[in-house]
Amino acid sequence: VEVTASVPSVAGSRLTVPLVDGRTVQYANLDHAASAPCLDAVQDAVNELLPWYASVHRGAGYASQVSTRVYERAREVVREFVNARRTEEVIFTRNTTDALNLLARALPRFTSVIVFDTDHHAAMLPWRGPNVFRVTPTDSVERDLDEALGQTPTGPRLVVVTGAANVTGELWPVARLSAVARRHGARIVLDAAQLAPHRPVDMRALDVDYVVLSGHKLYAPFGAGALVGRADWLRAAHPYLAGGGATRQVTEHGVSWHYGPERHEAGTPNVVGAHALAVACETLGKHWDAVAAHEEALLDRLRTGLAAIPGVRQLSIFGDDSPRVGVVSFTVEGQDPGLVAAYLSAEHGIGVRDGLFCAHIATARLAGGRALRASLGLGSTAEHVDRLLTALRQGPAEEYELVDGRFAPVEDS
Ligand code: PMP
Repeated sequence: VEVTASVPSVAGSRLTVPLVDGRTVQYANLDHAASAPCLDAVQDAVNELLPWYASVHRGAGYASQVSTRVYERAREVVREFVNARRTEEVIFTRNTTDALNLLARALPRFTSVIVFDTDHHAAMLPWRGPNVFRVTPTDSVERDLDEALGQTPTGPRLVVVTGAANVTGELWPVARLSAVARRHGARIVLDAAQLAPHRPVDMRALDVDYVVLSGHKLYAPFGAGALVGRADWLRAAHPYLAGGGATRQVTEHGVSWHYGPERHEAGTPNVVGAHALAVACETLGKHWDAVAAHEEALLDRLRTGLAAIPGVRQLSIFGDDSPRVGVVSFTVEGQDPGLVAAYLSAEHGIGVRDGLFCAHIATARLAGGRALRASLGLGSTAEHVDRLLTALRQGPAEEYELVDGRFAPVEDS
């Protein structure tokens, strides 16, 4: 199994899974776009911290001091990972969805929001009110954005841009879109959930105001993500969650809230999650060249292989040749994606995703309905890709049906 030596190792890549015929095989996880299994470095760091976690900020004991240091160090690591200006601009959230909902609640009144209708629901749906404009991308997204911004009423504007599309893996021209946004005086938030595991995210080079990401897509466990960016709107907004930790003072007469990131982090924070996310960021940050080389080689193998299978059609928003990360969605002519996914798991130990990928408009438009998605990561190997291609060429030996909401081989009666 060739995982490039200089690519960080992934704990989940050593899993074995049972097949329908009773054999056991190495798990071919081709579902990194949903959640990426944790890095060995992350697992070690979490194991080391687990005995130590204790209340942050208010505790005087030694373990509390350790937790506080670990938590605040994580903020600084995330700042560096996205090249934000100030550590105080990093707010820990549960994930990208949470981060975008937080930002949505913090917008000044009458802010116009521009979203693309191909985006993940997390990026498309948190914004409310009459000033939300949904744009269908054409072959010139800069012009699309320019036109949309030209039609917005005066007042604050926010443009929501996805770094890498979760359905097709295609890279969006973020810097070019932010240049358009700037011409209209608009702010820009980058949904980096799918980009950050694959490419460096430099918010200053891209000239974006906010970045959101999820730890569980970055080879850390669930439950920690971040909203990073300009503090002014966030300081002026009511706290996202009201409760302990967000307050400076509470008296019989009223409450005064913190102005830093704690304002939106009420409740005991997820110190272990933030640490895991930070260690993942640090580890990836040291290996970008190797990460990109590893994924590009596998992506090429996957896309070329899929293109050679009759009836397989790969999806794209901007065209087959557009640059992308290791995420490929496709349909198999005449076959139900759910059944194909069930077959790949049961007979080959391959994990892919099927459905509409929380981007219903995009998937329905590009695939005419549901699709399959294979997504690569650091634990992926050429053998995983070849196994998928062989399995797709072969087709199922068994017939599959829906039983209790899950696909399973049809039982002989
Ligand atoms: N945006 C994109 C591009 C995504 O791929 C995802 C996750 N599929 C999200 C947002 C939402 O991330 P989370 O579920 O971690 O909140």
